[in-house]
Amino acid sequence: NAKDDLLRRHSIFEPVIMSRHSELLQMDRDLEWALEHDEFELYYQPKVDLVTGAIVSVEALLRWNHPDQGMIPPNVFIPRAEANGSIIPLGEQVLRKACLQCQAWREQGFEDLTVAVNLSAVQLYQANFVEQVERALADTGLPAEALELELTESCLMEDMDVAERILRSLCTLGVSLSVDDFGTGYSSLAYLRRFPVSSLKLDQRFVKELEMGGEAELIAGAVLALARSLSLITVAEGVENHYQAKWLHERGCHQAQGYLYARPMPASACLTLMQKREAFDVP
Ligand code: C2E
Ligand code: MG
Ligand code: MG
Ligand code: MG
Repeated sequence: NAKDDLLRRHSIFEPVIMSRHSELLQMDRDLEWALEHDEFELYYQPKVDLVTGAIVSVEALLRWNHPDQGMIPPNVFIPRAEANGSIIPLGEQVLRKACLQCQAWREQGFEDLTVAVNLSAVQLYQANFVEQVERALADTGLPAEALELELTESCLMEDMDVAERILRSLCTLGVSLSVDDFGTGYSSLAYLRRFPVSSLKLDQRFVKELEMGGEAELIAGAVLALARSLSLITVAEGVENHYQAKWLHERGCHQAQGYLYARPMPASACLTLMQKREAFDVP
């Protein structure tokens, strides 16, 4: 009977496991190929100052331009790239591309523009990460002050002592640090004091639910108040309508990012937008 069970389990589940396994292996091979053949592209999404309406920064968001599957969003391939280690070379490529692009735009007249790059924990904790950032800045000519690194709470919590040491070195370079998706993780006051972060990005799930009042509104309000008391810059993600922009502005949120202003777009489209739009309408 135990043998029957075993057979049954294998005959039913093995093909599933096998196909999932081979799917992952296929993705590993595809990722490797994509890295070598430059199939990754950075899209850029503006961050808008809620007082002046100016574009103060752009966030680099990774896309995989797959030959058969079209544009693949990061949530699909980043977890796998983290698991198989290819996020290391990929992340370095992203960092360098973003610095190069931002410096080019600064030289084209957007001299105060800054760029934000998302980081995975795997990247942050690599032994030579700080040198990697230094090299990217030196090679592209981007001033450290123009680079912002976005980290999530869970990434910072993975090893607080090591994270603190790395963040202090990055901060000494002049790079600024922000906590992405804030409010979804541990959100502890203690760690905010401990890490030299300069801004908080309010997670879009709270922004999305602002109109419904209730918990999202309470949490968003508390995050903005907390940030203010710690003198941190606040950025709201996923702003899609004027109600949200006004609500955020009234509570002192500094910047907004979302479809209300612009979607993430290829570099060329982003330049066109910056050239034709001096400022957005703000509340
Ligand atoms: P994130 O850093 O929190 O980026 C915000 C996500 O919200 C982006 O999704 C963006 O396209 C989307 N978004 C922006 N405005 C709106 C809006 O108004 N409404 C809605 N519904 N969505 C909006 P995306 O580009 O698919 O990226 C997803 C996540 O993938 C990012 O979340 C980030 O955690 C990660 N990611 C993206 N690029 C990189 C990268 O180069 N390296 C690493 N490690 N992670 C990255
Ligand atoms: Mg981000
Ligand atoms: Mg975010
Ligand atoms: Mg997010």
